[in-house]
Amino acid sequence: MNSMYFTEEHNLFRKSLQDFLQKEVVPHIETWEKTGNIDRFIWKKFGDMGFFGINYPEAYGGLNLDLFYTVILLEELQKINSGGFAAAIWAHVYLAMTHLNVEGDETIKQNYLAPSISGDKIGCLCITEPFGGSDVAGMRTTAVKNGDHYIINGSKTFITNGVYSDYLVVAAKTNPELGNKGISIFLIDRDIKGVSATKLDKLGWRASDTGEIAFDNVKVPIGNLMGEENKGFSYIMHHFSLERLIMGINAHARAEYALEYALQYMSERQAFGKTIDKFQALRHNIADLYTDMEMCKEFNYSVAYRLNKDEYVVKEATMSKLRSTKMADEVIYQCLQFLGGYGYMEDYPMARLLRDSRLGPIGGGTSEILREILAKIIIDKKEYKPAT
Ligand SMILES: Cc1cc2nc3c(=O)[nH]c(=O)nc-3n(C[C@H](O)[C@H](O)[C@H](O)COP(=O)(O)OP(=O)(O)OC[C@H]3O[C@@H](n4cnc5c(N)ncnc54)[C@H](O)[C@@H]3O)c2cc1C
Repeated sequence: MNSMYFTEEHNLFRKSLQDFLQKEVVPHIETWEKTGNIDRFIWKKFGDMGFFGINYPEAYGGLNLDLFYTVILLEELQKINSGGFAAAIWAHVYLAMTHLNVEGDETIKQNYLAPSISGDKIGCLCITEPFGGSDVAGMRTTAVKNGDHYIINGSKTFITNGVYSDYLVVAAKTNPELGNKGISIFLIDRDIKGVSATKLDKLGWRASDTGEIAFDNVKVPIGNLMGEENKGFSYIMHHFSLERLIMGINAHARAEYALEYALQYMSERQAFGKTIDKFQALRHNIADLYTDMEMCKEFNYSVAYRLNKDEYVVKEATMSKLRSTKMADEVIYQCLQFLGGYGYMEDYPMARLLRDSRLGPIGGGTSEILREILAKIIIDKKEYKPAT
């Protein structure tokens, strides 16, 4: 364990989390992967254990711990091999709840952040639309002020927790003529009139409910506006640093899991009279893959360290996601190869791991968009500033 970043308390937390996941989550994973519906009881158990609150203020039931507890939570969620279950959890805690914590007022924090920490309410973050994914500013959902309400119309797609969550954090245009300067963030209850959702079928992340959501004249009180009107785009961009680092950390963790599994398998599987971990072709391959994984892991820890000190790490978090998700795909592809035909079987972990990993270079900003951002920072000297 890397003692530069992890204390004895961190290590104890990791151990108790591992025990909890093995006892409470792993026995249900196969069912949730098949049904695409994570049983509600586990959310409450996560809340009771304090796992949703590790990064949030004590005033709302959180533990206000440093970011390396989050790193541990993310890593261990990847190592039980259900990218969909992991996504459901981290989309709730670090996509939806981040907005509640930063832009929510006291009423929103009491009514939504506190029950999100306790596991009584589940959230989702709705930015992507059928006609506006990479081009966030191209979104068409509108929120029109009408007295003490906003009327919201439009649709969102590919939303994690989009079907079974209790509330939605939604980006909508309050001033469409202002482009990305006319976007605001709203809190919308699932059961309010005019909100409907359809579950999408997909390659991986099968335990997670990915939804398409329609808003048909949804009337929300002005108190549900989060933060300031028309500041939504800068809030979204600001939180992307954490989201992208999370996806980088997830990637190094699932690559490490794949390598550990493959190494164990290779130490037992025999061919031509010896275990396959004795073949030089495979050994050198492992050496390269392990090096790539460790390089990403160390880089990601260093970015987490800086983010934990409130540094604005937009460039580094972008690099983390870009490189780590590619590395994970390559590592997992090769680890599946090390298992031969067994790698292709659902009874072994690599098939699901390969499917789940493929979302890495797509969700939360595609690799092409990340390269665009990095090119602007590196070549054009563009400066991205924190939201104020
Ligand atoms: C399983 C899953 C879960 C998701 N969860 C959420 C969620 O919880 N909340 C949410 O808001 N969104 C979510 N997303 C959406 C995700 O963030 C988007 O799919 C992603 O940002 C890409 O948008 P798009 O799918 O519209 O692709 P498009 O924007 O249509 O892009 C299509 C292709 O064109 C490329 N491209 C686009 N613009 C450029 C450019 N300027 N230069 C070069 N290439 C470009 C892209 O890289 C991509 O390869 C999820 C997606 C999936 C699949």
